[in-house]
Amino acid sequence: MEIADVDKRWMDHMQAYIYYWLMAYGAILLLLSEVFLWISEYIRRVHHPHLYEPVYGPLEQDCDHHRIRHARLGLDASSPVVPSSDRPAGAEGMRLTHDARIARADQLAVTHPSAAPLLRFYAELARFQKPVFSELQSKSETDLHALLCYFPALVKLVSRTGTDLLAQFAAGNLQSADAQLKLLAATWEGGEVLDPAARFYARVLVQPYAEYLASRGDIQAGGAGPTCPFCNARPVAGVLRGEGDGGKRWLLCSLCSTEWEYRRVLCPGCGEENKDKLPIYLAAEIPAARVDACDNCQTYLKSIDLTKDGHAIPVVDEIATVALNIWAEDHDYAKLESNLLGM
Ligand SMILES: [Zn+2]
Ligand SMILES: [Zn+2]
Repeated sequence: MEIADVDKRWMDHMQAYIYYWLMAYGAILLLLSEVFLWISEYIRRVHHPHLYEPVYGPLEQDCDHHRIRHARLGLDASSPVVPSSDRPAGAEGMRLTHDARIARADQLAVTHPSAAPLLRFYAELARFQKPVFSELQSKSETDLHALLCYFPALVKLVSRTGTDLLAQFAAGNLQSADAQLKLLAATWEGGEVLDPAARFYARVLVQPYAEYLASRGDIQAGGAGPTCPFCNARPVAGVLRGEGDGGKRWLLCSLCSTEWEYRRVLCPGCGEENKDKLPIYLAAEIPAARVDACDNCQTYLKSIDLTKDGHAIPVVDEIATVALNIWAEDHDYAKLESNLLGM
């Protein structure tokens, strides 16, 4: 009997022991699986924020939505716009964009004779910028030094088709690689006030560089402030598109051509929101462009209305409507940001 009691006690003890360890192992496995799930979810959200959404939802719909809009507008100048996923096919989309700008400038030079010399010069510059963009892209080049090799050809182009003032500036200030690089860096980093001629040379080269960099990653185009959400430069024009009831305004970056959505009744110069202080001026002979002025900071920005001209290419049409600049400046408004030609 004594031996049987010992056996029974031993069996009870073993059962309790096994039961305890099974419970412990189960709890540990449950905890580990929870931790694993949490970590994988965290990595996906934090490190791939742009990948997260398409898997579950609305991006495809958004893409279609934008494509429909672009198709309706024909060749959209400003397609370096928003997310790169929105473009027809990466590089192809960008190349079309440069070609579209050139074609639009050539076309408007015929229909806007008073702006024809400016448009022809712009077309020359866009033809120059197109291969700069393509070469940076094909080499995945992100170093500003890569732009130095284009200076001689640019100086030659300007001496052939530009003004004496620009040619003289190059002869006196752009002879050393150090001076050229300093100029490019000052333009790309912003903040420094440059001589208009200096800014012209730097922008011709930094624009395709900035556009290439902007084309590499998605840009959060919504909810941005008065400067570009990608490169922080000021907008050179507004773009109006019909969407739903009131339509929407986008701002076009003067450097990287990114577009971002911006409230219609809000001055990008000073933040004024009172619509009585934000007059809009229209000229009957230029229906697709308008002057968005601010009586608080006395600045203006021209907006190109794509609902009135679906073929307009904002960066080019902005140059073609120089008559509005003259009118606005005669009325004591200063342009918020000059275009490539310094106007
Ligand atoms: Zn920008
Ligand atoms: Zn203002």
